[in-house]
Amino acid sequence: MSTGFGNTSFKHSLDGFGILQNKGSEPTIFTSGNISSGYSNWFNTVTPATNTIGAGAFAVDSDTAKIGFKSKAFSIPLKLTLHYEFNRYRIGAGYSTEYVHAGDFKPISYGNKIGSFSPGSSSFFMKKYFAMLGGMVYRYYEYDLVIDANIGGYKLGSQFNDGLISKGIYVNFGATIEREMSEYFRVFVRPSYEVKSYTISFPEGGKSITHQANAFYLNIGATYRLPELRRCPLKECHAQLNHAHGNREYRSRRHPIYKKQNPHYGENYPVIIKYKGRNKRKIEPY
Ligand SMILES: [Zn+2]
Repeated sequence: MSTGFGNTSFKHSLDGFGILQNKGSEPTIFTSGNISSGYSNWFNTVTPATNTIGAGAFAVDSDTAKIGFKSKAFSIPLKLTLHYEFNRYRIGAGYSTEYVHAGDFKPISYGNKIGSFSPGSSSFFMKKYFAMLGGMVYRYYEYDLVIDANIGGYKLGSQFNDGLISKGIYVNFGATIEREMSEYFRVFVRPSYEVKSYTISFPEGGKSITHQANAFYLNIGATYRLPELRRCPLKECHAQLNHAHGNREYRSRRHPIYKKQNPHYGENYPVIIKYKGRNKRKIEPY
C-alpha cells in the first residue's frame, strides 16, 4: 500500500485548429479556416461556442504555426497492489485512486498574445487498474532494488465525457527501493514515470485532439508479507525463531514487525548485555 505525489504534464497540440484570443476573455479554438466554428472546452468534453471577433482580437491557425496548450497537474495517489514473489521475480495486480488537480493551461507558443484557460473541471478523481511485473536487480544487506512496470487501464473523473474520449492503456515504469524491516514487513519508495494519452473526438467534422498526460510519481509505502506459518499460540513462549509444538510448526510471537529478523536464529537482542552501555568498559561485566 502506498501514497505520495504525482506531477502530470497535460499537453496537446492543435493540428487542424486555430486559437482565437479576444481581449479580456479566455482563448477559444476553432476549426482551421472557419473562425466562427468555435469551442470553449476541449479538455474533458467538447463545448461549442460561437466565436465573435472583438476589437484587438488575436487569431492564429495551425497551418501557419505550431500551436497548443500545456498544464501541470498535481496529484495524490492511494495505491494498493497484491503480488506473488518467486525467485527474484514478482507478478501481481493493483488498483489506485488518485486526486488530481490540474492548473491553468498555458499556450506552448505566442505566450505574449494568448492567455491561459482553466478547464471546466480542474479537480477530479482518476482510477487505475493494472497488472504488475517486476524483478529484483540488486540486493545490499536489508535493501532491495526492484525494477517493475504497471500496465493497465484508467478512468478519468465523471466530468470527462466518456462518449467522446478514447484511451489506450497506460504504462508506468518504476524503480522500487525497499528496506526489509522484518521477515514480514518492508517499507519502500518508488519513483516512476508514466506514459498515457487520450483522444477527444469532435461530434461534427470528424476532428480530434490527442491529450498527452505523462506523469512522474513518487510513492512511499509499506509491504506486508502474508506469513506461511501460524503465529505461536502460547502466551509464555519466548522462542524467537520458527519452532514446533507437537508436530506443528509456528512462527515466533516475539517478533516485532519493525525489527529485522533472521528466521534461523532470531535477532531481537543482537547485542548481548555484556557489550551494552557502560558494561562494555567493565573487565568483569556480570
Ligand atoms: Zn512457541
